[in-house]
Amino acid sequence: MNAKELNVKTALVIDDEKFMRDFLCSVVGKVCSGNVLSVSSGQEALDIISSRDEPLDFILCDLQMPEMDGIEVIRHLADIDYSGGVILVSGEDQRILETANSIAEGRGLNLIGSLTKPVSVESLSQLLANYNVVEKKPAWSAPEVSEEELRSAIQTGDIFLHFQPQIDIKSGAVRGVEALARWNHLEKGMIPPDIFINIAEQYQLIDALTDTVIEQASRQGALWSRRGYKFRVSVNLSMDNLRDLDFPDRLATLVESTGMDIKNLSFEITESRLVEDLSTCLDILTRLRLKGPELSIDDFGTGYASMEHLKKMPFSELKIDRAFVNGAHSDGTARAILESSIYLAKQLSMITVAEGVETREDWDLVESLGCDLIQGYYVARPMDAESFDGWLEQR
Ligand code: C2E
Ligand code: CA
Ligand code: CA
Repeated sequence: MNAKELNVKTALVIDDEKFMRDFLCSVVGKVCSGNVLSVSSGQEALDIISSRDEPLDFILCDLQMPEMDGIEVIRHLADIDYSGGVILVSGEDQRILETANSIAEGRGLNLIGSLTKPVSVESLSQLLANYNVVEKKPAWSAPEVSEEELRSAIQTGDIFLHFQPQIDIKSGAVRGVEALARWNHLEKGMIPPDIFINIAEQYQLIDALTDTVIEQASRQGALWSRRGYKFRVSVNLSMDNLRDLDFPDRLATLVESTGMDIKNLSFEITESRLVEDLSTCLDILTRLRLKGPELSIDDFGTGYASMEHLKKMPFSELKIDRAFVNGAHSDGTARAILESSIYLAKQLSMITVAEGVETREDWDLVESLGCDLIQGYYVARPMDAESFDGWLEQR
């Protein structure tokens, strides 16, 4: 799409160098209809923004400026709740631009993207092609749910599971399936798991929640096993589950009661914060592992998991976070982390799983790096048990 079709009324260029400013204005002018304003400092830009009744459609801001640099501009824009789009421009290296991007997003700005100098008409119009100036999406906010609502949802069986396949990258065979908790609230609709897991952890409901997930996953796993399917079922554990020394025994009894062989389960654990009591955690994980399931370190690269822990803890599998998988072919930093994670896992004889494989490019890259299993939208989205069965039959 040509951005000239977009209804841009006013854009603002912020750059301290006159030549660059004029050049950027002419690039914007070629891509968008409407008015292009320009200023030479962040302060002038803030003055313009606060004096206007209507928000600007977007601003193009240089990072390297002598008085107020781009990072400071971002901070001030966030302080005045600027709601228009933001494009960051820099002649600095890609890493600085990426960090600046995350700062802008972290401060809640409507970041359209970033451009490295020299900026071209093509690069700007590509960036703007995905930006809908006319219908600014209102920020989506997750529905609020209470501790009581969650407690009753767990008790009445309103928490159910979706399943997402994990594929052997060489043979294409289904080697596993991850069970993901879902909650469809009667009035508030689907509640994202990140939200209710958090509440469960905060209000000591996580054991009850984990129990219902393990029970449903095991029942379903036993059913698949009886039908002759040979894949394992992965369940997510919270670090808060790893406090009670009896956990492995309680879990084994629960799994057994469903007719599932515990060896066909796998447990995924994210080290989302520092382990408080390392010896208790190690005791539990090691006894769990002795019962036969795979133990997988989840979201590797994002949490607190350290090399030290990899060495100490009885993990048999390393699951690389999607942040380092999706789009890694065009992102040098992500690619480096992906590559070294796979290398590290191999040195430690661990199975590697790449999650967040969304495109052929993602697939090709993780395949070329020797990853064992993949999971992601490119293969299938998480689905309910019935759809999963349909998907299996189709393959
Ligand atoms: P996770 O363990 O990292 O799970 C993978 C998440 O990535 C899932 O989100 C899945 O839907 C999503 N995903 C899978 N493939 C792709 C892809 O190709 N692209 C993208 N962008 N996303 C993909 P979901 O279901 O929203 O779960 C979010 C998180 O909630 C999970 O992250 C996990 O940490 C937590 N969670 C879910 N179920 C449970 C549970 O039963 N117990 C615990 N403790 N945590 C759970
Ligand atoms: Ca997981
Ligand atoms: Ca993850």
